[in-house]
Amino acid sequence: MNKNIDTRLIHGNYSCRSYLGSLIPPIFQTSTFSFTSAEEGERRFAGEEDGFVYSRLGNPTVQELEYKIADLENGEEGIAFSSGMAAVSAVLTSVVKTGDHILVSEGIYGCTFGLLQMLKERFNIDFSLVNMDKKETIESLLRPQTKAIYVETPINPTMKLVDLQMISNIAKQHNLFYIVDNTFSSPVLQRPLELGADVVLHSATKYIGGHGDVIAGLAAGSADFISLVRRSSQKDMGGILGPFDAWLLLRGIKTLSLRMNRHSDNAKLLSERLKQHPKIEKVYYPGDPDFPQHSLAALQMDHFGGLISFELKGNKAAAQSFMNRLEMIRIAVSLGDAETLIQHPATMTHAVVPYDTRNKMGISDRLLRLSAGLEAEKDIWQDIEQALDAL
Ligand SMILES: *Cc1c(COP(=O)(O)O)cnc(C)c1O
Repeated sequence: MNKNIDTRLIHGNYSCRSYLGSLIPPIFQTSTFSFTSAEEGERRFAGEEDGFVYSRLGNPTVQELEYKIADLENGEEGIAFSSGMAAVSAVLTSVVKTGDHILVSEGIYGCTFGLLQMLKERFNIDFSLVNMDKKETIESLLRPQTKAIYVETPINPTMKLVDLQMISNIAKQHNLFYIVDNTFSSPVLQRPLELGADVVLHSATKYIGGHGDVIAGLAAGSADFISLVRRSSQKDMGGILGPFDAWLLLRGIKTLSLRMNRHSDNAKLLSERLKQHPKIEKVYYPGDPDFPQHSLAALQMDHFGGLISFELKGNKAAAQSFMNRLEMIRIAVSLGDAETLIQHPATMTHAVVPYDTRNKMGISDRLLRLSAGLEAEKDIWQDIEQALDAL
């Protein structure tokens, strides 16, 4: 019987017996592994015998983390990377080749968009940004060359959702490889592989690490696909995770469920208070019953997450002055840390998006994005309230 995810976050399939009874997986801070004989080396290189060879090809500490993400996402295998972008680029380059086309959900992470543009300009791999609300819109953009569909949900900073099950049906019907970036939800809140995705990936820098001290990426999927990524894109392009960073993630993951629930509870309470405040124009939070896709969020997520966006009444100057008046909440991009963080998408994460496109996406100059931390909700609110009152 598969244990509850709260338990699997802690136990998984790590066996202390492998490492002299060490309760916690040791950090194998080594670049290479020596063989007991020339013949053993030959067998390992030939793939006839299991065992480690060189840490770019595999490392015991990193492998524990890879087992963990596979287990949590319900994939056959997992793989760890030096950053979320290393995961995105290794997965994409394992799926598509020159001449192919990818359908991509509108509003994806800025550097993923940058990577797609680079693939288009330098390698003739085309992509279309698609509003994924309707099956017909998606199908109208299909080409004979379309190979993959790439989705992020919820999306930064407007929290717009994509219906994961609907996309799965389209992907199956048209034989498309289906990729989901699950960074914003983590496997505790949403498990895309269970809803038909072929591969799920993460910036583990965010909720999975959860402590703001490591940059890392993870992916999980079928054994065939993950071993392809490992053999092709990762082995030869080299975006591997170091053993110490893997160990930090293994440490952070144990509290993922506790943290996600606290992040979500804090965000829900804050969204309710923000909604009632006279200086707030609009709140974007999937857990808000008035959020346009609230019922989809309730269907495919186990809780609504820690990210809220809101618009102040006023302009860019008001938004910046509000941020400057915050005393405890830190001004920073990234998300999913214990500390509550706030950022101004128009001048920070989405500054490269042209003004008109930004506004069409719902990113006005007075929009702010808050990553609710793990502090007492009352203290977060007190800080927000004093900064609003001072405006
Ligand atoms: C941060 C982020 C990434 C990139 O991850 P890094 O760890 O910063 O390389 C990719 N996708 C999403 C949704 C992100 O938030």
